[in-house]
Amino acid sequence: MSTRTTRSPEETEALGAEVAAGLDPGAVVVISGELGAGKTTFVRGACRALGVAGAVTSPTFTIGRRYRGDRVAVAHLDLYRLAGIDDEEPALLDDYLDAETITFVEWPAGAADRLAAPTLEVRMSHAGADARVIDLESASQGA
Ligand code: ADP
Ligand code: MG
Repeated sequence: MSTRTTRSPEETEALGAEVAAGLDPGAVVVISGELGAGKTTFVRGACRALGVAGAVTSPTFTIGRRYRGDRVAVAHLDLYRLAGIDDEEPALLDDYLDAETITFVEWPAGAADRLAAPTLEVRMSHAGADARVIDLESASQGA
């Protein structure tokens, strides 16, 4: 696991971009942390680096959005409102997870079963003012 500290939204976007450069199609990145921790900011930086044009904001009226990057498809989910999708439509995430797509998931606890083995786990927390502490744990490195 590696831990990084960022001191501005721009630094968090840059970290997202750095992480994105190491992702292959099919990768699933889950991002946890409380409201305002910077999850969407991180995803925005990653999406930019993957060639996504236009606004990257948390999906509001759907659980996710798909974007076209320049080398890969990109999906961005926000599962804040999902208490647990076992009771919901089991195929709910199918539109956003496939071998050609790099998928970013905010509030992944909403679908813990389905996202049990992410490629990368990102945990973000407030560290005073504009500082954020960001843990990055990749599946291949183990616990
Ligand atoms: P989340 O998706 O976790 O709710 P957002 O990325 O939407 O969080 O919002 C983070 C907010 O915190 C933004 O208003 C951003 O400008 C601000 N911010 C301040 N410092 C940082 C930082 N170091 N990293 C990310 N966001 C920061
Ligand atoms: Mg968000």
